[in-house]
Amino acid sequence: MTENNGGPYNGLISNRLKNRSAVITGGASGIGLATAKRLAHEGANIVIADICPDDAGKAAADLVDGVFVRTDVTNEDDVINVFKTTKETYGSVDIAFNNAGISPADDASILDTGIEAWRKVQEVNLTSVYYCCKHVIPYMQEQGTGSIINTASFVAVMGAAASQISYSASKGGVLSMSRELGVEFARQGIRVNALCPGPVNTPLLQELFAKDPERAERRLVHVPLGRFAEPDELAAAVAFLASDDSSFITASQFLVDGGIAGAYVTPL
Ligand code: NAD
Repeated sequence: MTENNGGPYNGLISNRLKNRSAVITGGASGIGLATAKRLAHEGANIVIADICPDDAGKAAADLVDGVFVRTDVTNEDDVINVFKTTKETYGSVDIAFNNAGISPADDASILDTGIEAWRKVQEVNLTSVYYCCKHVIPYMQEQGTGSIINTASFVAVMGAAASQISYSASKGGVLSMSRELGVEFARQGIRVNALCPGPVNTPLLQELFAKDPERAERRLVHVPLGRFAEPDELAAAVAFLASDDSSFITASQFLVDGGIAGAYVTPL
């Protein structure tokens, strides 16, 4: 255990990710940035892979003494490059948090959602995870160890009448892919889990609800815990899945959803 003064994790925190390196896609904002901080606090070397402008990416990387590699996760060469850079910089690729995702406003009911919006969401949310897993697994096979965490969503396991059809379908794909990879590579020391967050207080969600507070209220009523998650709460789950504390967990749909998926009638 090491003393951690200040920061969001006051008090003692374990050093369980010491000498591990983690690639975090979408690591410059929201859940990804909170996770970069958390994994760094637990001793990991951090590589932030994001499409954001260089100054924002570097600022995020500086916060965690890490490296920023500008990456468009829909571009296979970019994805190959970020894992290669990680291996060259830190000597191993132990943790892949494949987390970048979008939730654009033109993705709604299937009746109103055009093919371009559909394709864009599949590319960023689903094809990206295919590229990331495809190109990180060989490093992990060589090492005989690794933890992959793919960000799906609670909407991968539940339907919503307030539809975002492309988003939900893409996250269903992430969940199925993670399960299958978890099974296929289980005996090679590689664990693959799908993180399924409930609604989280990040720019992605804030943008969606800023214009329409009723939209937020309509969703909040379904959350037993009565609030949206904070990014740090997701980061804590990712740190667990990344570490050996979760050594018997693979191919799982790891719900961190405030009880939504288990609820019928919520408290008043
Ligand atoms: P966010 O918008 O705060 O951060 C997403 C990050 O991904 C940004 O830094 C963005 O620059 C990056 N990104 C977008 N397109 C990219 C691309 N093509 N290549 C590389 N990086 C790219 O979002 P967030 O809320 O932190 O979401 C993170 C993940 O969690 C997403 O996959 C999202 O679908 C999922 N999720 C979010 C919520 C929520 O309520 N916020 C709920 C369930 C699942």
